[in-house]
Amino acid sequence: MNLGTVLCLPIVLASMGIAKQNPSEAQNQKNIEICTQNLLAIGKAVQAYHNDHGDFPEWLSELYPKYLQDANLLLCPADKGGGKAIAAFNADPKMSVSYGYQFHPEYREGTQKNRAVYGDVIPLARCRHHANQSFDCLNLSFSFKVFRSSEIWQSTPEDMYGTPEKAITALEAGLQRQTNSGRLSNHVHSALTRLYIEVGREKDADNTIDRFKSIMDPNDARNCFALAEMLEMVKRDEEALPVFEKLAGQYPDDYLVLNKLAEIHWKVGNSKLAKEYHLKVAPDSELVGKLVPDFSAIDLDGKPISLQQYRGKVVLLDFWAVWCGFCLREMPNIKKVYDIYKDKGFDVIGVSLDDDEAELMDYLKENSIPWRQIFTGQGMESPLALQYKIEGPLVPWLIDRDGTLISSDARDAALEYLVEEAINDKSENE
Ligand SMILES: [Zn+2]
Repeated sequence: MNLGTVLCLPIVLASMGIAKQNPSEAQNQKNIEICTQNLLAIGKAVQAYHNDHGDFPEWLSELYPKYLQDANLLLCPADKGGGKAIAAFNADPKMSVSYGYQFHPEYREGTQKNRAVYGDVIPLARCRHHANQSFDCLNLSFSFKVFRSSEIWQSTPEDMYGTPEKAITALEAGLQRQTNSGRLSNHVHSALTRLYIEVGREKDADNTIDRFKSIMDPNDARNCFALAEMLEMVKRDEEALPVFEKLAGQYPDDYLVLNKLAEIHWKVGNSKLAKEYHLKVAPDSELVGKLVPDFSAIDLDGKPISLQQYRGKVVLLDFWAVWCGFCLREMPNIKKVYDIYKDKGFDVIGVSLDDDEAELMDYLKENSIPWRQIFTGQGMESPLALQYKIEGPLVPWLIDRDGTLISSDARDAALEYLVEEAINDKSENE
């Protein structure tokens, strides 16, 4: 088993939801509205079905035609696949359905357990076809309300309950019930820890972690990962380190674990070790430490641009696209680092792998992206993507003042640490 596979599955599914599709913003809003109405109609039909049968249907197709007369209500307008399920075991056996049904035979038991802890605010049916930078799924809850959430709905219970305080009260009660059933969940403890910190109840956060530690299975990788993350949340980094290190021993290639180790070592000041862990997970690491060959292109303003122009600066050569959800989520981080270090010798070059110029321009304007962009309209066939053998967006290359590649995966927390180090390197040499 690869821990990353276990932990990352929802993220992979989410990224599939962020597949290449770029209707206008107005069309997106309209699709969300129609989809919301669909979900509410499905909710009504499920309710009627439940009144007759005393239970939920095994599949949503059972609602048709008696409880749901219009089969189109099972299709989301944003679903390019026309109701084809992402995974075979999720596929409705009778009809094309855009919605992920959380109560089908394989999911029923797990969902039932979640209901026992969280209540009827949890998703009954989910639409993944509107994923953007602010949410992954549109959900119909068991209480027949529509709400937005991330793929892992457990991680933002405040979206379901309304406020952090209400979520805390509900989860505390849920945890009580869960203890009685003897089942243990990382998510509840993690969410509670985070919410306690958010509302300033640090002591309760610490107690939640200690309680989790005393009842968790120390041989369960997911429990260990959750524990280490909680410890990190309350800044008990020295305690989190050995837990992550033990996991790294079990899963020496796991991206999430090695990334976490890099982050914590950076935080506690072991930058050498941090970088070693970071480079273990960065793709194309054989290019690291080598001179990046120069390119010559024309930027969006029609001016010639090359790497050579940036010699003497630390530069992020960022291969990205507006249709890449993960790229857009990373953008605030790049902006933050840019604002801190732009006057100290850091710059960014965006290489857009989009093919729609109007959409790119809209995004750059709406989000006030200040750095230069290279765009040819050839998408993945753009000359720079071909020159550097870039196979997709979300490839941030960090290049030092001499033109040498520092990292081919400079993002999240690593970006700031790596930029800071590269900037300071120079100061020390002066
Ligand atoms: Zn939808």
